[in-house]
Amino acid sequence: MTNKEKPVFGTTEWAASNVNYLKGCSNDCKYCFSKEMAIRFKRKTPENWKEEEINWEAYNKNVKQREGYIMFPSTHDITPQHLDLAIDFLKRLLGNGNKVLIVSKPSFECIKRICDSFADYKDQILFRFTIGSTNNKTLKFWEPNAPDYNERKKALVYAFEAGYQTSISCEPMLDDKIDKVIEDLSQYVTDAIWLGKMNFAIRRLRTNGHLDAENQAAAEQLLEWQNDAAIKQLYNKYKDNPQIKWKESIKKVVGLEVSTIKGEDK
Ligand code: SF4
Repeated sequence: MTNKEKPVFGTTEWAASNVNYLKGCSNDCKYCFSKEMAIRFKRKTPENWKEEEINWEAYNKNVKQREGYIMFPSTHDITPQHLDLAIDFLKRLLGNGNKVLIVSKPSFECIKRICDSFADYKDQILFRFTIGSTNNKTLKFWEPNAPDYNERKKALVYAFEAGYQTSISCEPMLDDKIDKVIEDLSQYVTDAIWLGKMNFAIRRLRTNGHLDAENQAAAEQLLEWQNDAAIKQLYNKYKDNPQIKWKESIKKVVGLEVSTIKGEDK
């Protein structure tokens, strides 16, 4: 198998390239992959990950037109604190002709401003909102500073009604009731609803400074909910639903071929 034929996973399933300019993310999700990487490579600590620092060099870079969607952001989020920066950055990115996959645990304020600012670029934007549960307690537990369910839904509905392309990422699914997310939100989705497991939960909790007894028990419960039998059941329930797409973590369990093409988004 050559490098080119390697199965893709994570963000590369969605987009061949990504752009970011913040170090850290105030949402401070316990399972965060970007936090784990930043700690491993000593760019951040478990404590200061939630402080968002601007990488001006990355911010000022002129991103020329690329093939396919560019994911923005992939290692942080678009938060009200740095919304002006995000608007200017998107202006340049879209102005250069790029198609942008905007991925966020959406703050209503941020998404409204983006929608209102880029009506002329609608065809170049696909929103992907991460919503792993309808339960606010669950969201708060895993994603302490991210917007609650109602706010994320409000942002999705706003983008949908404004005529943007919309999609949802339920990766990671945060409980055993993902049906509720699908039932409540599918009518506002023009593109797809992605389902995926929580990857390397215990290792990430450990690196990210969250491996206490309570979090470990919650992670073990989640792993149990996402055992192979449960995932196969979930797959059988939705396999004929054209809106549902499966992340690599699920494809492997149910025997679907994992894409080897970056950014294929399927
Ligand atoms: S929103 Fe994304 S980047 Fe931010 S802490 Fe959560 S998982 Fe990490």
